[in-house]
Amino acid sequence: MLLKLENIGKIYDSNGILTIGIRNVNLEFDFNEFVLIEGESGSGKSTLLNVVGANDTYEEGELYFNGSETSHYSANDWERYREQNISTVFQDFNIIENLTVSENIQLALFRIDDIKERKRIAKELIDKVGLTKQASQRCSKLSGGEKQRAVIARALAKDSPIILADEPTGNLDVKSSTEIAKLLKEVSSGKLVIVVTHNADFFKQYATRRVRMYDGKVSEDKLIEKPAEAAVKRENNSAHADKKQELKNTVWLGLLNYKSRPRFTVMMSFALAVCAIALFIVLNVFGETLIKPLKTTLDGVGIEGKVILSNAGALITEDELNGISESLGAGYSLWDRELSEFFVTIPESGDMLKAYTVTCLYAPYRYALEGAEAVLVMPVSAARDEQAIKDTFLRAGVGITSIRTEKTLSADGVYLYLGYDALANNGKKIQSIYNKMKIDGYETTVYTFRINDGLGSGEINLVNSDFWNVRNKTVVLSAKSNMLYTVIDDSGIEENAGGLIVEMNAADYDSVFSECAGSANQACLYFSSDKAAKAAIEGLPEGYMGMLSASKIYVQGAGEIFTANILYYLALILVGICLAVLISVIFMRSVKIYQTDFTVYRTLGISRRISSRSLNIQMALIFLPTLVLMPLVSLIAAVMPGSTMAFIGIGEYLFIEIMMLLIVEFVAFGFNKSIKGQSVRTGLRRGLK
Ligand code: ADP
Repeated sequence: MLLKLENIGKIYDSNGILTIGIRNVNLEFDFNEFVLIEGESGSGKSTLLNVVGANDTYEEGELYFNGSETSHYSANDWERYREQNISTVFQDFNIIENLTVSENIQLALFRIDDIKERKRIAKELIDKVGLTKQASQRCSKLSGGEKQRAVIARALAKDSPIILADEPTGNLDVKSSTEIAKLLKEVSSGKLVIVVTHNADFFKQYATRRVRMYDGKVSEDKLIEKPAEAAVKRENNSAHADKKQELKNTVWLGLLNYKSRPRFTVMMSFALAVCAIALFIVLNVFGETLIKPLKTTLDGVGIEGKVILSNAGALITEDELNGISESLGAGYSLWDRELSEFFVTIPESGDMLKAYTVTCLYAPYRYALEGAEAVLVMPVSAARDEQAIKDTFLRAGVGITSIRTEKTLSADGVYLYLGYDALANNGKKIQSIYNKMKIDGYETTVYTFRINDGLGSGEINLVNSDFWNVRNKTVVLSAKSNMLYTVIDDSGIEENAGGLIVEMNAADYDSVFSECAGSANQACLYFSSDKAAKAAIEGLPEGYMGMLSASKIYVQGAGEIFTANILYYLALILVGICLAVLISVIFMRSVKIYQTDFTVYRTLGISRRISSRSLNIQMALIFLPTLVLMPLVSLIAAVMPGSTMAFIGIGEYLFIEIMMLLIVEFVAFGFNKSIKGQSVRTGLRRGLK
């Protein structure tokens, strides 16, 4: 005997109210039977079918399958039971509307390894149920009768011994109903078909047996016709447990889900991209301005192989520097470290996009510059102001005669690399571009200084001055100088000069801009790499200290900064979490539309492992576009005139992408968890809502 129900009872408990679904049901079913179950609404027909189909559990009695008890079955056992033995045809079809007829049928063919073969079998079955023309149509486009025929084809594809049909013609007209009944009849040979119906008389001519339910019990069990003795196929038709095949099926299903609901896919991909971009902006804007690091590099830029040298507060003389440089094998040395990295702030003028702070640097191994050459490294977004920036240095008369430009996406600011000669001889002059000056208590900005030998010591002329009546007034320069100056003349005007020019005689000019004469507090040594520099530092003479320019040192008052900024850190983390939660919630809600689909997969015997992992794959596919979109947005931000954003760094990119991937996979995990342990009956009902 295929199935034997012995005193089976199903009791529903909804919020403490117990309802009897069926009670003391004793029935036996075997192959080749076509059984009708009839009865009034609420008499327990569907409950009976759900118990037999393992869509629901039973609480009382025993269900024997092939002579063995099933009351000890675990959830997995029931899963396998359903996978191997049950095909279902429902009144409301439970066809996956977003897939084509052929795809729906292929879902029931996972036991066949070859995908081409699946397609072939699907086609055969489609022809059999007369849907040849509709084979590649989406099921949502089919009529009710066509849908039901597709479902029957799918049930046939599954090729299981038991076919359960709950009101299969409930939503169909007479013509379609007749076709469905005939198909079921045809199918029943060699299998067990149980049909629940309100309309037993209609099915009578096809059935072999009629069971009547009343108030949860069997009230009548009547043989209509002795079942024909057809050959019974008893082979196991579960899907193969081969890992590679399982992976193939998982990917196939993931792709199918992905393309089955294009609107969902596009919306989710879009939401994810927006989230990624928001995170990118938060990190860029807030990450840099709000969170000040407690440690900073000794130099702002941290040139590779650069060592800052000092001598415990004592001055370093020229001889000492030469000696140390030689003994350590330093490639280059430069006097005052202040000169090896300084800033020139160019104010916004004319049609410039904005003001710039140019970091002036010496990095001999990077650009091996000769004499008065320089290299300007700038972000693409500042391209429009290239000439204005270059002119600032070229016109100031500070010893730079040619500037080559390098525009890059990765620059986070404007850098001017200077040759050794330019720096050693003219560093102070370059540094004084757009320096401050005080006239009679008022502060103003000087574009540059130049020599006018007609002036006496301590006398200056102002060219392009905006001041009135400043002749004979006293001036204090913030460029290195311990002298006070007196304005002799302020009438000079020079077009295209780039601002206020201060003229002084050669001796005064030299005293302001003279380089350190043979000794200084600090000096810089340059090596070909940080590694070489580190090794050299080990061999410094007693009393000297050397540090890599990239060394991290504590900022003064780091404790206070820490306290002040911990709130910002928390705020940033909170923003991140809120973003993640928001997107998770949106996703979690949206992904619910797959609940019915996933339950249908179960009724088709697709293992939970395959269906749950297919969701992981689907989510990964939804995530894919952000991989490209992120850098794209970053690129746009980096080339947009006036922007200060550098092209996204690899660390930030990985951080954001991994975060997004984690979010979507978390959603997949949550969804899989939420439907785990849910009965098929609940899954279908909830999903339909
Ligand atoms: P039929 O299919 O013959 O209309 P059902 O099997 O659906 O009958 O229902 C049998 C009995 O079980 C009815 O009293 C019904 O109210 C009850 N029942 C069915 N499903 C549930 C459920 N999920 N929760 C509570 N009671 C239910």
